Amino acid sequence: MNGCSRRAVAADVVFDGEKKHDDFAVVIEDAQIAALTPRSDLPSSIEVYNVPQGAWLAPGFIDIQVNGGGDVLFNADPTPAALAKIAQAHRKFGVTSFLPTLITDSDEAMVAALGAVGAVMAREPGILGIHLEGPFLSPQKPGVHRREFIRRPQAHHRQMLGAFREGVLLVTLAPEETPSGFIAELVAAGAKVSLGHSMATYEQTRAAMAEGLTGFTHLFNAMRPLSAREPGPVAAALESPRASYGMIVDGEHVAPAMLGLAMRGVGRPMVVSDAMPPVGGTKAEFDLLGARIVVRDGSCRTQEGALAGSSIEMASAVRNCVRLLGLPLEQARAQHLSTFHPATLIERPRNLRRGGLRRHFLRREVLIGRHRSLPKSAASSIQSNESRSEKLSAI
Ligand SMILES: [Zn+2]
Repeated sequence: MNGCSRRAVAADVVFDGEKKHDDFAVVIEDAQIAALTPRSDLPSSIEVYNVPQGAWLAPGFIDIQVNGGGDVLFNADPTPAALAKIAQAHRKFGVTSFLPTLITDSDEAMVAALGAVGAVMAREPGILGIHLEGPFLSPQKPGVHRREFIRRPQAHHRQMLGAFREGVLLVTLAPEETPSGFIAELVAAGAKVSLGHSMATYEQTRAAMAEGLTGFTHLFNAMRPLSAREPGPVAAALESPRASYGMIVDGEHVAPAMLGLAMRGVGRPMVVSDAMPPVGGTKAEFDLLGARIVVRDGSCRTQEGALAGSSIEMASAVRNCVRLLGLPLEQARAQHLSTFHPATLIERPRNLRRGGLRRHFLRREVLIGRHRSLPKSAASSIQSNESRSEKLSAI
């Protein structure tokens, strides 16, 4: 009489984000997950979709750094329609929630991006808020961000950021380029603050953490490196249980040995894609704020050969955690790297644990092969990443 539709998805392994269940099924009522149950306990009347043999059924990924996808760059088109296309492009790689990321741009672009995210969130539940990567960055570590837009915060920026109430606001900044108290002010207004594109010293990083900074954006890339007498942000991140650090696991941005080191830190490593328009798109090149970026051997590069974001998607990045870093799939999966840790940074873990995870679980099912017998497509993408990293290390 309630008219609700009940169906089940069954798999050899169902991973609930914390533990594995062999030969289990997820029962779905309408759009909600109602139960996890052994496949043998399913009533004969229920419609069952059996995922291919050997595949895992696991929670969707949360990606906190998505510049674009489906041939769309958020900076170039900060509109609700563009966000819907980006969301669609990433969904097919298992991303059920993400933060669209605006890199350093004009005030007008920032206002448009905040407005677009605020407007689209109600109808795109996978969009959790916005990540502003810049513009308060170090001119010494711009990466591919346009130098003319890198600037220090002004009063109107405080107002603009403080007024965003629709969802998560994550701000990547260089603490040494912002006035004392600015980070605390953002945190008090509800924002999450992450260090990135920064030459902060260890002491400056610790001071920023004391103000409430908890994130580190693409750890190792575009920040002061770890060195003997100046530990810098990397050491500050790895020694803090409260630190969440994003890692681009494409075999190109960071050597696997360094990622392995980060995995041994006491904080919360996260997989991020730093994805650009080619992810889920059809074009092998795009315009990044006036610079021509071409996908070569699977990586996004400027004419000069510098890396400009990535063309990897989350499913391949998680596979790389297994293949390149030797992590067990359970650890590479949900709770540590691609679901619980990013959720913790943006303060969604309670929501995930209280049934939120179950809701999150199957908005889009993701199939990850057992790591000893990866599907052919996964194996070949890992293979090509490995050969790319060999090529790089030989240069
Ligand atoms: Zn960056």
